[in-house]
Amino acid sequence: MIGQTELVDRVKEYDPKFDETLINRAYDFSKRAHGSQTRDSGALYFSHPLEVADILTNYRLDGASIVTALLHDTLEDTDTTETDIRDNFGDEIAQLVDGVTKLTRLELQSNKAKQAENFRKFVLATSRDIRVLLVKLADRLHNMRTIRHVDKPERRRRIARETMDIYAPLAARIGMHDIKDELEDLAFAELNPDARDSILRRLTFLREEGGNLVERIIAELNQVMADEGIEAVVSGREKSSYSIWRKMQRQQVEFEQLSDIMAFRIVVDDVLDCYRILGIIHGRYSAVPGRFRDYLSTPKPNGYQSLHTGVLGPEKHRIEVQIRTHKMHDIAERGVAAHWRYSDIGSGPVSSTGMADGKQYRWLQELLDILDDAAGPEDFLEHTKLEMFSDQVFGFSPKGEVYALPRGSTPIDFAYAVHTEVGDHCVGAKINGRNMPLRTQLQNGDQVEILTSENQTPSPNWEQLVVTGKARARIRRVLRHQQLEQYAVLGRSIIEKAFQRHDETLDEDKLAGVLGEFHADSVEDLYALVGQGVHTGRAVMRILFPDKDGDGTRSTGGSIFSLRRTRRNSTKASEHSVPISGLIPGMAVHLAKCCYPLPGDRIVGVTTTGKGVTVHTIDCMTLEAFAESPERWVEVSWDVDDEDAAKQVSRLNVTLVNEPGSLGELANIIAQAGGNISNLKFTNRNPDFFDMTVDIEVDNNKHLNDVMTALRAGRSVSSVDRARS
Ligand code: MN
Repeated sequence: MIGQTELVDRVKEYDPKFDETLINRAYDFSKRAHGSQTRDSGALYFSHPLEVADILTNYRLDGASIVTALLHDTLEDTDTTETDIRDNFGDEIAQLVDGVTKLTRLELQSNKAKQAENFRKFVLATSRDIRVLLVKLADRLHNMRTIRHVDKPERRRRIARETMDIYAPLAARIGMHDIKDELEDLAFAELNPDARDSILRRLTFLREEGGNLVERIIAELNQVMADEGIEAVVSGREKSSYSIWRKMQRQQVEFEQLSDIMAFRIVVDDVLDCYRILGIIHGRYSAVPGRFRDYLSTPKPNGYQSLHTGVLGPEKHRIEVQIRTHKMHDIAERGVAAHWRYSDIGSGPVSSTGMADGKQYRWLQELLDILDDAAGPEDFLEHTKLEMFSDQVFGFSPKGEVYALPRGSTPIDFAYAVHTEVGDHCVGAKINGRNMPLRTQLQNGDQVEILTSENQTPSPNWEQLVVTGKARARIRRVLRHQQLEQYAVLGRSIIEKAFQRHDETLDEDKLAGVLGEFHADSVEDLYALVGQGVHTGRAVMRILFPDKDGDGTRSTGGSIFSLRRTRRNSTKASEHSVPISGLIPGMAVHLAKCCYPLPGDRIVGVTTTGKGVTVHTIDCMTLEAFAESPERWVEVSWDVDDEDAAKQVSRLNVTLVNEPGSLGELANIIAQAGGNISNLKFTNRNPDFFDMTVDIEVDNNKHLNDVMTALRAGRSVSSVDRARS
């Protein structure tokens, strides 16, 4: 284990400006705070923060990070308070320690939902100061290196799972591949020891069988470089057991078929040499198709640069060759921690304090940009395997806020999660920058921008589109309210007309006096009850003007008389003879004058304030205008037998050939088919054809079809269609 003096010396070497007494104080402070606490291994607890600090010196992290590493468990595991840290080490250190502590607390939550909830805070917290994440990764690395000391198998598994799902991808994301590889391998050993063992056994066998194959290939590649006069460092290794395992899974192949389990690296000084070497390798060995990648001209999002190719190399072994410069190599292995070395300023420690002058730590800003949003969240979440929270999806607002929603959630759920107002006025959504329907189910990492309009209110079909309770409850409430409002408007106009029939004008004071009779709480409430059909306008009038009958004339016969009158009215007035059922009593019904529905047609009613219900055929074009207001649609059906139905008028659009006798033929065909033309109107004439609408009285839609079929057979009839709008 590293000693105090050695630690201080190491940091001094690369961060000479840092106050070394701070490191010494942190060392003593942490040692005292952890006191006699021990780890699962039996070692003194203090050995852990010290090892974490040691790991971080390898990445030449600044003094503040090293101090943070030493103190990282004091808040969680000892009596130390944040104030203690602040008083002793200042604001910067206090914030860093606090950040690491928060992440540690997240790990302690066993509940999956909570983990998911907190994971986003995790990301946000780390993006505030990358050093928090770096300390956390070193902490996790040391814990994984010592995980064998943890007694409970399920606890070991949980930690390993979390490492595999969250920390290894995070390390990869910020380019720290050596930490990623080690974390993966340690977690793999815990999660799938059998698979790992068999891969290791197989590797050992190959090694024995092939002799020192890796060395022989390195030697040959070195010779090739020497022949070409290129100064290069060649190295080679077997791939890690976990990456071999992943490859076997991904490609669905047996180990025997996996030939390229060896990777070789050629590292040079100059970028141009990289391409030169690529040419030499491809000239010398046959390239495996589809394996060439140029991350040199197109770096990965985390800044990784290298040329990759696969060849049938020395002794016909299939190998992977990576070609890069020393600088690229360092960044590939050490990620963000390596960037500073190549910054304009030259050497200096990794810290975020240089953010202010912009240039020096531009890498840090770039990394934050990656973590922040842009192509970030989607990519980021994809890599962090959030499938572990398979019952949830995470959506990002354009500002980068994360919302955890149940799987199956739609943009409407998202909108209500953001704010009730946003939900209520939601008219559309852009998902990952594209306009998408509101029914679209959100995917993990989707960036969701909700489009709103002041005039929009929740639509009844939204209820089918949401899965969150919050959204559903709110939508129902609003709809109920809207419906009552509409009933009230309808009821008011019914009552207003009733007043007019009595030669009176609407008088709300009078109505307020009779509310009790109708069990209404307010005049508005009474309107709604009348609009809903619970009470009729006539009933209200009877209470208000008991000495007048329903038509405003004096009533002598009381209720029997008015009932009789009502009946007579209903058979006389054409509006009331519409044989439609499925409506609330007292509602006026009209057959639409656009599609002329006939008994037998599939129909639907549309309510219109003050006018009652208009009935359309289901395929009427006019209905499109009401597509956005399904709350106005009512289900209706024909209330007649085909036999004794009264004749109904329907309308046809007919095109006739313009020739003598064609109109006569039309009239003849219709008469023979039992129809009766009630009206006929030309809509367009030209030398060859004329278009007209023909209104015909028929029994029902079947009868009309017969008429139409007969017309189509007519010599001078060019086309026949039912009016649809
Ligand atoms: Mn720790």
